[in-house]
Amino acid sequence: MWEPQLVSHCSKVPRNVNLEKLRSGYLFPEISRHEAEHLQENPDASLIRLGIGDTTHPIPDTITLAMAEHVRGLSTIQGYRGYGAEQGNMALRKAIAGKIYQDMGIKADEILYRTEHNATFLAYSCFWDPMLPWLYKTHLSLVIVGQAGELEEETGKYGNIIYMNCGPENNFFPNLWAIPRTDVIFFCSPNNPTGHAASRQQLKQLVEFAKANGSIIVYDSAYAGYIRDGSPRSIFEIPGAKEVAIEISSFSKFAGFTGVRLGWTVVPEELKYSNGFPVIKDLNRIVCTCFNGASSIAQAGGLACLSTDGYQALCNVIDYYMENAKILVDGFKSLDLNVYGGKNAPYIWVHFPGLNSWDVFSDFLKKTNIVTVPGRGFGPAGEENIRISAFGQREHILEASRRLKLYL
Ligand SMILES: *Cc1c(COP(=O)(O)O)cnc(C)c1O
Repeated sequence: MWEPQLVSHCSKVPRNVNLEKLRSGYLFPEISRHEAEHLQENPDASLIRLGIGDTTHPIPDTITLAMAEHVRGLSTIQGYRGYGAEQGNMALRKAIAGKIYQDMGIKADEILYRTEHNATFLAYSCFWDPMLPWLYKTHLSLVIVGQAGELEEETGKYGNIIYMNCGPENNFFPNLWAIPRTDVIFFCSPNNPTGHAASRQQLKQLVEFAKANGSIIVYDSAYAGYIRDGSPRSIFEIPGAKEVAIEISSFSKFAGFTGVRLGWTVVPEELKYSNGFPVIKDLNRIVCTCFNGASSIAQAGGLACLSTDGYQALCNVIDYYMENAKILVDGFKSLDLNVYGGKNAPYIWVHFPGLNSWDVFSDFLKKTNIVTVPGRGFGPAGEENIRISAFGQREHILEASRRLKLYL
């Protein structure tokens, strides 16, 4: 007779060792736990959430109408489309090359579309083995100062990953000559969480460094549209970058597409492996096998983002967020705190010398009812700081700015 088994069944499939090494993502669940606790003690508190960096402003009409029109077309014989080109439709690849990489000599063929920023890394990591554990941090969107949460605290190292600490002491740019050679250098500018945009001079150094070491830079320019001070919006503004860099970018923060999902990767033909083989051929293959192209609806929206009207409307939305950022920066400055970022990115990074960032986070929440992110959540180099996001409705931002003084 069949007896129910008391011991649960396990397969014979071993778990991937790199996944096994990861600590669970604790940051945002931990923030939510603090938030819930605070609300339990103060049921009437009106929280302002400036923690998680998600866009809040509606997508401009011209863009959603283009998507709606595409969707309606799918119900017609003439408008129906099935699989598209895996790399993205050519009109959109050309539009990005022409509008975002104007004067940088990037060809439409060098642009590959995708829906997932992070999955792209995971896929690339299949053939850049040493990157694997590190890549998962990107998956957690903890791309940061000194890199993310799962590193070994004592050594500051995780496998073969070298962390580059960036803070006010080095003008948010690593001391490259003190860093050993790696195959890949991950660099995010404007930076999440510090809000710092690397200067032309800094990026020239980075390209020079990569060239001298024969490394590949993976440059995350998701916040390029927020740059206001003339800092480069792309690594390809730097001469020679095509031989050493890949750029990954996204419509998420540029167009409020965090839910719609659309991003791209630029892989110049000049970028080669040690044996002279072009990297783009492999990445193209990965995109074709793993992704099968981005949604045609998202791509219709992407194309509308790059139309004259769409682009202008998006610039207005970004201006709105940047005005939010200015209000918050001025608020912190009036309290005589050390505040960074907020000029070329929707993030404000506030330094509290000598204090534990989780303590500052909790204290801030208690006194002001504002939810932030403790810098420590982004890695040890984030200690003593909190990150405040400028995504939000103006009335909430103004209210937050009024409440800042309650912290003191
Ligand atoms: C939000 C964000 C992105 C966008 O990722 P998607 O998967 O395209 O939404 C990329 N990089 C950084 C650093 C971000 O903060």
